[in-house]
Amino acid sequence: MKTIRQITILGSTGSVGESTLDVIARHPDRFRAFALTANNNVEKMLAQCQSFQPRFAVMLNQKSSEQLASAIKTANIKTEVLSGIESLEKVASLPEVDTVMAAIVGAAGIRPTFAAAQAGKLVLLANKETLVMAGHIFTDLVKKHHATLLPIDSEHNAIYQSLPHHFNGNLAAAGVSHILLTASGGPFRCASLDSLENVTPEQACAHPNWDMGQKISVDSATMMNKGLEVIEAHWLFEAPPDKIQVVIHPQSVIHSMVAYVDGSVIAQLGNPDMRTPIAHAMGYPERIESGVSALDMFKIAHLDFEQPDIKRFPCLDLAYQALHAGGNMPAVLNAANEIAVESFLQRRMAFTAIPTMIKHVMQTIQREEMMTLDDVLRTDKLARAKSHEWLANLQ
Ligand code: NAD
Ligand code: MG
Repeated sequence: MKTIRQITILGSTGSVGESTLDVIARHPDRFRAFALTANNNVEKMLAQCQSFQPRFAVMLNQKSSEQLASAIKTANIKTEVLSGIESLEKVASLPEVDTVMAAIVGAAGIRPTFAAAQAGKLVLLANKETLVMAGHIFTDLVKKHHATLLPIDSEHNAIYQSLPHHFNGNLAAAGVSHILLTASGGPFRCASLDSLENVTPEQACAHPNWDMGQKISVDSATMMNKGLEVIEAHWLFEAPPDKIQVVIHPQSVIHSMVAYVDGSVIAQLGNPDMRTPIAHAMGYPERIESGVSALDMFKIAHLDFEQPDIKRFPCLDLAYQALHAGGNMPAVLNAANEIAVESFLQRRMAFTAIPTMIKHVMQTIQREEMMTLDDVLRTDKLARAKSHEWLANLQ
C-alpha cells in the first residue's frame, strides 16, 4: 500500500497554493493537505478547511486567526487554528510533514521556507524571493540538513526537466553549454515607451498568458520577474550569470531550455498552467495527472523568439547587476522591488519609477557579504527603510 504524503502549503490561498490544492484533490490516494497557511483571507481559508480538513490552519494575522477559529468551530471542522510567524515555521517543520510547498509571496516566505529546509523536508520552491535574498545561505542549509529542493517556478521546473537525471550541480560535467530562460515579455512588450509612464495597476496585472498573484504580475510587466529568475537559476543550477540567457518567447509554450555542447537544445513545453510544474514536482520521479489539457500544436502554430530590450526593461539589467555584485545586493534589489511594486499598486508612484527607486536604493547601500539568515533579514529591513525614505522624498 502507498503511504499518503503529508503536505504543508505555505500560502494556500494564493494562486500557486490553490493550484497545489487542485492537484492534491486529484490524488487523494497519494497526498493529504496536512497544514494550510495564509496571511488574512479568512473566507478562502475556511472554504479550504471545509474541503480538505487539514490538521492545522495558520493565519499570520492574529485577528484573522480568531475569526477563522470561531467559524471553524461553528462549522464543526476538526482543524486546529494557529497564528503568527512561529506557527508558520512550526507547520513547515513538524515531524509528520513530508513535503512543504513554499508559495508565500515575497520576503515574508523566507523564515518558514528556511524552517522547512532545516527540518530536512522535501521543499517545493515557488517562493523565488527566498533564493534571491539568501542565495548560498539557503542552498547550504538544504545540503547540511539533507533537504531536497524541487523548483516550482515554471522556467526552473522546465530546466530541471531538461537537465540529465541525477544532475549534481556541475553543468560543465553534464555537457551543458548554457541555459535559455524564456520570458513572455509581459503585457507591455509592444507598448510605446512613452505610454509606460501612465500604466495603471490593472493594466500591469493583466498578463497575456498567466493568471497569477498581483506582485508577480507586476514583476512580469517590468521583467523584474525574469531578473529574479536569473538569480534563482544561478543558485538552483550553479550556473554563472553569463551561462543564463533570457529569451523573449511571447506564447509562453516553451517554459525554458537547456543547450548542450553538441548543439542539442532540450526544451519543456506545455500550456501555461502552474499545475504542470506542481504535479511534476509533487509526483517526482513519477508522472501524475495534473488536470492540464494536452498541448495543441496546430492551435499554437507559431513559436516566436526575441532579444529582451534593456531600455524597455531596465529591471532585468538591475537584476544582472545585483547578481554580478553578489553579497547583500540581490537582497537589496528584492526588498526595494517589493516596496516599489506595493507603492505602484497603491498608486503612490508611476510604473516607470519602479526601476528608478530600486537603482537608487542599490546605490545607497554598501555591498557586504552575508553569512546568516539574520544578515539577510537585516539587509531586507535596511533596504525597505531606504526605499521608504526615497518614497517620502517623492511626495
Ligand atoms: P499570491 O499573492 O496569489 O498568494 C500569496 C500567498 O501568500 C497567499 O496565500 C497569502 O495569504 C500569503 N501571504 C502573503 N503575504 C504573507 C505574509 N506576510 N505572511 C504569510 N503569508 C503571506 O501569490 P502567487 O502568485 O501564488 O505567488 C506565490 C509565490 O510563487 C511568489 O513567490 C511567486 O513569485 C511564485 N510564483 C508564482 C507563480 C504564479 O503563477 N502565480 C509562478 C511562479 C512562481
Ligand atoms: Mg516563472
